[in-house]
Amino acid sequence: MNKYNVKCLLCGEVQEPYSLACSQGDDSLLRTYYSAEQLEPTDMPGIWRYYNWLPVEGIIEEGSGRTITYKSEKLASALGLDDLWIAFNGYWPEKDAYLMTCTFKDLESFPTMQRLMEQDEKRIMVVASAGNTARAFTHACSITGQPLLLVVPEGSAHKIWSIHEDDRSVFLVTVKGDYFDAISLAGKVAARDGFVNEGGAKNVARRDGMGTVMLDAVLTAGGLPDHYFQAVGSGTGGIAAWEASMRLADDGRFGEHLPKLHLGQSLPCAPLYSLWKGTDEVDAACPEGIYDNVLFNRKPPFAVKGGVKDALEATGGDVYAVSRQEAADAQQLFEDSEGIDLIPAAAVAVAGLIQAVKAGNVKPDERIVLNITGGGQKRLAEDYELRQLPVFLSVSADDEDAEDKVIAAIMEKISA
Ligand SMILES: *Cc1c(COP(=O)(O)O)cnc(C)c1O
Repeated sequence: MNKYNVKCLLCGEVQEPYSLACSQGDDSLLRTYYSAEQLEPTDMPGIWRYYNWLPVEGIIEEGSGRTITYKSEKLASALGLDDLWIAFNGYWPEKDAYLMTCTFKDLESFPTMQRLMEQDEKRIMVVASAGNTARAFTHACSITGQPLLLVVPEGSAHKIWSIHEDDRSVFLVTVKGDYFDAISLAGKVAARDGFVNEGGAKNVARRDGMGTVMLDAVLTAGGLPDHYFQAVGSGTGGIAAWEASMRLADDGRFGEHLPKLHLGQSLPCAPLYSLWKGTDEVDAACPEGIYDNVLFNRKPPFAVKGGVKDALEATGGDVYAVSRQEAADAQQLFEDSEGIDLIPAAAVAVAGLIQAVKAGNVKPDERIVLNITGGGQKRLAEDYELRQLPVFLSVSADDEDAEDKVIAAIMEKISA
């Protein structure tokens, strides 16, 4: 029996295990179905604790971490909640939390990288990122030596730091434009010979990797929560939490009710909120004004089969819009009460929780999982030198020759 199968949610057919789209068309996400029906944690390091529910056939021993879930006391009491669990993703050695790029993007990069190695992939992996994904893939590629092209909006280049001294395999290209411009340039380059796309939300390894947040939370808390809070940009983490909940419900030992997804977005740039509420279009100036630009994605996987809309409907979930002030206040409250610094995006989830408590959407005794998607960067800087990754090439989104320039520069560098 296979460890897992990958199926299309529309036609139901089993697909080739590494495919990113259904052979019948592009209107559906693929989903992994594991032969292990129950969650059995292993004693392997980092994320590989959840090996049985990851679509991989081996592990990368070095460098991965995992979510650390703990029961909140101070924040819980400030909010009048009795059963609040913090699923912390980041660096916090006092709690054994070792996601070395300080966000849950490390949970996506390691399974994705492992699968590239299984395919003996020699092409250059292309990743478009507003910052945190780029850092996570830089970390994984610095360990495995996989060549990596990062395409990042210019304004996010400062977020691409590394704790590794050797990152020769990584090419950082900045784009004058936003995350969407970076995605579209990355897509064009990835379509050319010698390059390969990692797939984003369509990649089951990325989603099942992020789904380990829910696995960790449920194993630690002892059962499925009533509510799950997360800040979203693409919403991929929300989809992943829903998929993991369904597997846990099928396991039989953790309850059968799927947690409600409460997804937070940052005003004025909240496309998922607009799509869900059917309200106005998003400001053309976005991501300007957003609390953290990793939360802005112009084309999130909302209506696609198995996407954010299905996840919200299936769980009775909701989307929250959070102002800058609310996010800043929530960040302060969290950092003061829990004693660890946040990546700003994570504060948007905290602010969503505060809104939900005020609105009575959650009850004091209900079990709540708060996904802290990133934290501990300041804590990490106390222990490590965070080295800025040098920019390899800078291009403009309006430049029609941008992709040729990127490819030519990389080829020249590689052959030198
Ligand atoms: C990417 C990211 C998010 C949003 O994640 P999605 O589920 O992909 O929308 C939230 N917080 C942090 C810190 C992130 O890096």
